[in-house]
Formats: sequence, structure tokens, C-alpha cells
Amino acid sequence: MIEIIRHCGPARLGRLHYNDSKIQTPNFFLNLIKGTDINHDIYLAASDFKTKKKPIVYDCGSFFERRKFASQIFRRSKIEKILPDEHVGFNVPRSTAEAAVERTVEFAKKYPGQGAVIQGSKYIDLREKCARELEDRPLLLIANGAKLIKNPRLLVEIVTRVRELTSPNSTLYFPFAPPHFFYLLAYMGVDLFDSADCILKAREKKFATTRGFLSLQSLKELPCSCKICENKIPSELGFGDILMHNVNIAKQVVKEIREAIRGNGLRELAEEKASCCAASMAALRLLDREKQDFLERYTAVSL
Ligand SMILES: [Zn+2]
Repeated sequence: MIEIIRHCGPARLGRLHYNDSKIQTPNFFLNLIKGTDINHDIYLAASDFKTKKKPIVYDCGSFFERRKFASQIFRRSKIEKILPDEHVGFNVPRSTAEAAVERTVEFAKKYPGQGAVIQGSKYIDLREKCARELEDRPLLLIANGAKLIKNPRLLVEIVTRVRELTSPNSTLYFPFAPPHFFYLLAYMGVDLFDSADCILKAREKKFATTRGFLSLQSLKELPCSCKICENKIPSELGFGDILMHNVNIAKQVVKEIREAIRGNGLRELAEEKASCCAASMAALRLLDREKQDFLERYTAVSL
């Protein structure tokens, strides 16, 4: 359950009540993977991942994975989870996307009150249909995050429509966003991100900044003074170090976002960060040009 404390345009400063924990939002899930141990406010893991970390949400994955792993999670009903869904790609034929929405919604209806996935690939009307059917879920994952990031028009259309069509009490989770994209997504009303892109980029030796990723090989020194980077040179960083640094940047970004919402300055911050990223800037311009109603509606009710 999310409690909204303050708006800044469509952006929401919230508190996620999760069992005994209260988690400030916007925030991000730390994806738990083997071999790394990083502390954070809230974790996300595959349904077969063994851990004592809390608070945690289990992502049951696709229907196919559910057959392999998720039965144990279903037996433990109190564990918060994102229900399994029909994973399909982004650029798929309409009939495939339509079938995925139908199967995902049909399954979710058997488990009211659980987190669910907004499917629909690149088809705005199918995303809308899925959002309407799942409008009152406590947690909603917007599928195909990595593809949407690369398509500003569909990103803006889908995120704003999902935000409008679902309950303000639904926590919106956008997966696979790089940290420098969190500003724009939070501005559109997204509450939760994850560290999936930080992991992928660490594998490619890409070093996060609040304006985008840099290739580690191109750096003469580390432009960061987090605990990992302090007193180190680029060639000394292995996968685990880069990942921890990337996660530290994601932590910095969500703190900046929350502070900007408190100070009513997220719009300016999103604009400043978008100036270094063509896709963010294109999305921000589309938002201004085509989504004035969406922006004004939330501005009108801001505290
Ligand atoms: Zn660092």
C-alpha cells in the first residue's frame, strides 16, 4: 500500500507500507543476484532465490518459469509478489500481444490484491485494456521497460495512460530503466525502478553517472567519490565494484528526486538531466507538447 505524501506535477513522493517497513518512494528495487551482497531499502528476487533479505518482493516471472519455480511462493500466501504473466516481446504481431494480455489478466483475476504486469507490447490500446483490468493492484509492473526507453513516443503514451487509468494507490514499477532515466519517469508518476540495468551495464564495464553511462576503459580517473571509487583508478574495478558503484548512483538519483519533489523542483531537475540524453529530452518535449492535460491535472492538485 502506498501513501502519497506530496505531488510535484504528476510525480509522487510516497511511503510504501510493506509489512513492518516503510519505504520512501520514488525508489528502486535492488535485484538480488548470486555473489553480490548490497544493502538497500527494498529487494526484488526471482521466486526460487533463497535469501533472508527483507523487505522483499518476489517476481514470479513468466508462466513458463512459474511451472518450474513459483509453486512454493504460491503456497506462502503472505509473501508479496508480482504474479506470473505471459512474456512476449515488444515488436510482436498484434494477435500475440492480444493473447498475452488476455492470459495475463485471466490469471491475475484468480489472485486479487497481488502485484501484476501491464502487458500489451507496442499497442497503446492493449496496454490501456490491461491497465483498466488491473487498475486496483497494489503494484503494477510495466512490461518491456528496456524497449520503451528507446522509444520516447510510446514511452510517454504508455506511462501516462497507465498512470491515468490505474488507482493512485497503485505503485507503478518501471523495470530496466538506467538511473539517469529515473528523473523523467518519476516526473511522469512512476514510483519504483530497479537495478537490472545497473547489473547489465556493470557486465559491459559501463560506469553510471547521473547523466548516463561512461565506458570504464575511456576514463583516466573515476569521476565519483563513493566508497567504491574513492582512492581507486578505473583499471582496479571488477564487476562487483562497478555494480556497487552503479547502485550507489541509483541511490543518489532517487534521493535527488525525492528532495526535488519536496522542493517542488523536479521539473527543472528532469530538464537538466535530459539535456545529456537525447531519448529523455525527446520524451520530455513530447510530454510538453502532447500531454498538457496530464501535466496540468496533477499540477492543479499539488499540495
Ligand atoms: Zn562511485
